[in-house]
Amino acid sequence: MIERDEFMALYGRPRQVVASAPGRVNLIGDHTDYNGGFVLPTVLPQRTQVQLARRDDRRVRAASAQRPDVLDYELGAEARTGSWLDYVQGITAALLADQRSITGFDLHIDSTVPVGGGLSSSAALEVALLRGLRDLFSLALDDDVVAALAHRAEVEFVGVPVGIMDQIACSRGHPGLALFIDTRTRVVEPIPLPPDLGLVVIDSGLPHDLASNNYRVRRGECEQAAAALGVRQLRDVAGDDPRIAALPDPLPRRVRHVVGENQRVLDAARALAAGDLARLGRLFDESHRSMRDDFEVSLPEIDLLVALAQADEAVFGARLTGGGFGGAVVAITESAGAARVAGDVAAAYHAKTSRRPMIVLPSLRASATRPKDVES
Ligand code: ADP
Ligand code: MG
Repeated sequence: MIERDEFMALYGRPRQVVASAPGRVNLIGDHTDYNGGFVLPTVLPQRTQVQLARRDDRRVRAASAQRPDVLDYELGAEARTGSWLDYVQGITAALLADQRSITGFDLHIDSTVPVGGGLSSSAALEVALLRGLRDLFSLALDDDVVAALAHRAEVEFVGVPVGIMDQIACSRGHPGLALFIDTRTRVVEPIPLPPDLGLVVIDSGLPHDLASNNYRVRRGECEQAAAALGVRQLRDVAGDDPRIAALPDPLPRRVRHVVGENQRVLDAARALAAGDLARLGRLFDESHRSMRDDFEVSLPEIDLLVALAQADEAVFGARLTGGGFGGAVVAITESAGAARVAGDVAAAYHAKTSRRPMIVLPSLRASATRPKDVES
């Protein structure tokens, strides 16, 4: 994480507040949250940190160790730019719309969460910034309000139609716990991770530039299917409804993924609570097949990464995690074997593709897992 000096070097004065929030990995339940369904994320040791100091005027200056530019704007005059600054602007716009009293500030961001890897660097940034602003301006914001404001920023300001999972996971998650979330009611049920559970998370490093548009298309297909079936959201569809098959292609497959995935999350929550890693692994494998064949959000390289993990005898199951079209995979092992599996799978993937995957879990060190790379 960053040193105090970086803020000083940039802005010529000391920071007043430091806050952070974790990235998350969704164990199972992808593309269910915007359908009113169930998800099962847990937090990562990798975090996004913000440093802040108040200003007397209404200017906001923002810098990130993961980006080359220092950007600024005027509070109350937020306007979408298409850059990372939109996440910052979205947060202040959401606070102002909620009648929260803030002034301008200087901001420095640094993160060890892979950016754009399906591990929710976006929500980690939103939640860290809201926590920092809460401290800086003594705002009364509980964790649920933080999640709701962060979600509003991403959907309404940044303009990505995401569900609420990421913001709840980053705001309410704790190490060692999975969160079973009913995204319709926003009821959260913590489930302790069994001590013998090993999680392997590997970021494929595949750019997901087109992800937000693909995401939009999938979301549109789900809404179209729900409307055709006369339900509010796909959560409300019964898997054996005969009308599903009569929908135009590819809607029956999209519905099958969402309905099946919701059931798998319920089953996985039970398996996790019972410490049944073998059952959990089978659900992971089924989920990946469904993401690949029915929801069609995987890529050949992701399938390869998953197949390499599944082929390891110490792995109970593996799947693509997150929105897809790139991003990371998550696999289940016994905790003692996780580091060996992660190293072997990453090496085999590199040998076959020349891509440089990043091992996110098990993390050797919670920081410095990623070079300070620069993307647009
Ligand atoms: P994910 O949340 O899966 O990492 P997203 O596409 O939802 O991927 O969010 C990634 C975007 O969030 C980046 O392109 C950038 O605009 C913003 N972002 C996330 N982390 C940072 C950071 N540390 N510094 C600057 N921008 C960031
Ligand atoms: Mg995101």
